[in-house]
Amino acid sequence: MNRATSPQGLPGSLAAALAAFRRQGLAQALEDIYHRLPDTTCQRQGHCCGLLPPLAPVELLAWLAGLQARPTGERVAQASALIEHFLTNAAQRRPCPWAEATACAVYPRRFLACRAYGLWPAAVYAERRQAALLAQEGIARAWAGLGVSLPAEVLAPGPEYCQQVRVAAPGENLPRADDLLHACESEMERLAKTLPPEPDVTAAGGDLSHLLARLALGERACLAAKVRVTKALLAGQERQARQILDQYLALGRAWATTWEEPSS
Ligand code: SF4
Repeated sequence: MNRATSPQGLPGSLAAALAAFRRQGLAQALEDIYHRLPDTTCQRQGHCCGLLPPLAPVELLAWLAGLQARPTGERVAQASALIEHFLTNAAQRRPCPWAEATACAVYPRRFLACRAYGLWPAAVYAERRQAALLAQEGIARAWAGLGVSLPAEVLAPGPEYCQQVRVAAPGENLPRADDLLHACESEMERLAKTLPPEPDVTAAGGDLSHLLARLALGERACLAAKVRVTKALLAGQERQARQILDQYLALGRAWATTWEEPSS
């Protein structure tokens, strides 16, 4: 499907959504939601960062708006890392691109799912983990239809519930954690509804790496590229996979180079 693009090389609908996001000051509104959650401490074992977390639509837009404002070199590096994540994560289990050995590279800007991990009551977390597992089974069936059997490490469920997270300064009036988290999610949904509809964000299904690959390479081309890279990696053709990856990453970098914040 051909869609009109903005001077920044974005689909017109996305450029409109980002302009409305900025006009309405939603970056600050999102920050305010994050700060409703209590500060926590943990033993920083890093298990929770073993996968790229799912993002709400308004978080996807916030991240894109933030990326667009970064210096070119950083924007290109971040876009390239996310596109590589998307193209390889069916063949290999990939950690969150911002996970470092003992830290998160974007900790002050981390997402609601990161902040909420360990705060959900264990039973609620278990339900969500089970839902993610069922979704993963659907993805495995779709790949099987293409003749690809995904490795067990890729299909393994997300992290177990963490018992090590503690509220840093428990307050007497702290609402139940699940009420608070549901309220944060509802408020993020409400913010997203104040913006023009954005089909790429919807189609990405909360996967930031998919959104970047889709924007940079195109809706169908990013999926075709992923199938090629996955088949080559699973066949042990590392060199061929690298060549295919490099070809698409060059396209991604070229896209990210030209994609700048519009001057106001
Ligand atoms: S953004 Fe940071 S805290 Fe969240 S999963 Fe990635 S590395 Fe972990």
